[in-house]
Amino acid sequence: MPTRAPLGADIVVIGGGPAGLHAAFYAAWRGLSVRVLEARSEPGGQLTALYPDKTVYDVPGVPQVRAGELVAALLRQLSPLDVELHTSEVARTLKPDGASGWVVETSQARYVAGAVILAAGMGALLPREVRIPGAAAHPDVRTDLPEPGEFGGRTVLVVGGVPQAARAALELAAAGAAVTLTHRRVGFRGDPQTLSSLETERRAGRVRVLAPATLQRLTPTGAELTADEQLIHVPADTVFVLNGYLPDLSPLLPWPLAWDGEYVPDGPGGRTALPGVYVVGDLARSGGDFKLLSVAFAQAAIAANHAARHVRPELKVRPGHSSERGGYPAKKA
Ligand SMILES: Cc1cc2nc3c(=O)[nH]c(=O)nc-3n(C[C@H](O)[C@H](O)[C@H](O)COP(=O)(O)OP(=O)(O)OC[C@H]3O[C@@H](n4cnc5c(N)ncnc54)[C@H](O)[C@@H]3O)c2cc1C
Repeated sequence: MPTRAPLGADIVVIGGGPAGLHAAFYAAWRGLSVRVLEARSEPGGQLTALYPDKTVYDVPGVPQVRAGELVAALLRQLSPLDVELHTSEVARTLKPDGASGWVVETSQARYVAGAVILAAGMGALLPREVRIPGAAAHPDVRTDLPEPGEFGGRTVLVVGGVPQAARAALELAAAGAAVTLTHRRVGFRGDPQTLSSLETERRAGRVRVLAPATLQRLTPTGAELTADEQLIHVPADTVFVLNGYLPDLSPLLPWPLAWDGEYVPDGPGGRTALPGVYVVGDLARSGGDFKLLSVAFAQAAIAANHAARHVRPELKVRPGHSSERGGYPAKKA
C-alpha cells in the first residue's frame, strides 16, 4: 500500500498503449497536465509487447511503419508536452475523491486527477510465468526487459525468440555483459536492423548464440542446454526469460464500470458509467470488431477533449485545428 502523498494531475490515463498515448497528447495539447500509468516497463501496448518488428500499413497518412517506430513517434509527439509516463505500475483501484475527482492507486503510488481515461486495451501486458525446471534454484531469474547498464561485467543468459530477446541481448552486450542468447528454434524475431546487428555481434564473438537449443534446466550457477545432442553448461549470474506477454484485466474487473465481458460500455464522448471516467481503444465497447489503431486514435482524440472540458469547464469541447495554433502549448513549470 503506497504511503507517499498522492501525485496530482488534471488527467490520469491508465494504459500507455497507442490509445493512451494519443489521449495523453490531446489532453496535454489542450494545456492540461497528464500522468500515464503503464504496467509494462516500456510504453507502446500491444505494439511494443507483441509485434514491435511487424510493419503496419493502415495508420492514416503513414503508408508503412514498423510498430516499434510508430510508438517512438507517438512518444516524440508527447515530449514537448506536460505528460509524465509512469512505467511498471499496475493501476489497481479507482475511488471517487470528493474535491478532486478520482484517486487511482497502484502498488507504488496514489494519483489524484479530475478525470481518468481508461486505455487498458486487453489488460495489463504482463510477462509470461517462468516454467523451467530448476528456476527456483537460480538466484536471479527475470522476466522483463532489463536496464542494460546494471549488468555490465555480469554473465547473462537471455532465453527467448521474441523481438525483446534479440534486443536485450544486444543492449546487454553493449553495456559490457557477457551474453548468451538461446532459443528453441533456429531463428529470432526482430526488425531487420536488430537481426543484422545480432549476426554481426555473433560473428565477432561478442554475443554467443545457441539456437536451436533446448533449455533443460536452470542450476544455481546458470543453465543446462542441449544443442547438437551435446549437453552444454552455460554459466549465468542473471537469466532473462523473455517469452512474451499475456493480458491481465483482473485488476480492473472489480471497478464499477458496467462491464460487458472484457469491454467497458462507452457513451458519447467516451463516457463510462462513472462521471469523469472515459474509455478508449480496444477496451471500449463501441470499437467492437474494429480493434484498430485508427479507431483507437479517433476515440482517444474525442474522449481526451471531453475529459479536458470535464476538468476545466471553461474550455470548449472542440479543440480547434492544430494547424492554426502555431506551436505546442508551454509546459507548466
Ligand atoms: C499481432 C498484432 C498485430 C496488429 N496489427 C495491427 C495493424 O496492422 N493495424 C491496426 O490498426 N491494428 C493492429 N493491431 C491492433 C492494435 O495493436 C490495437 O488495436 C491497439 O494496440 C489498441 O490500443 P490500446 O491502446 O487500446 O490497447 P493496448 O495496445 O493493448 O495498450 C494497453 C496498455 O495498457 C496497459 N494496461 C492495461 N491494464 C493496466 C493497468 N491496470 N495498469 C497499468 N497499465 C495497464 C497494458 O500493459 C498496455 O500497455 C494488431 C494487434 C496485434 C496483437
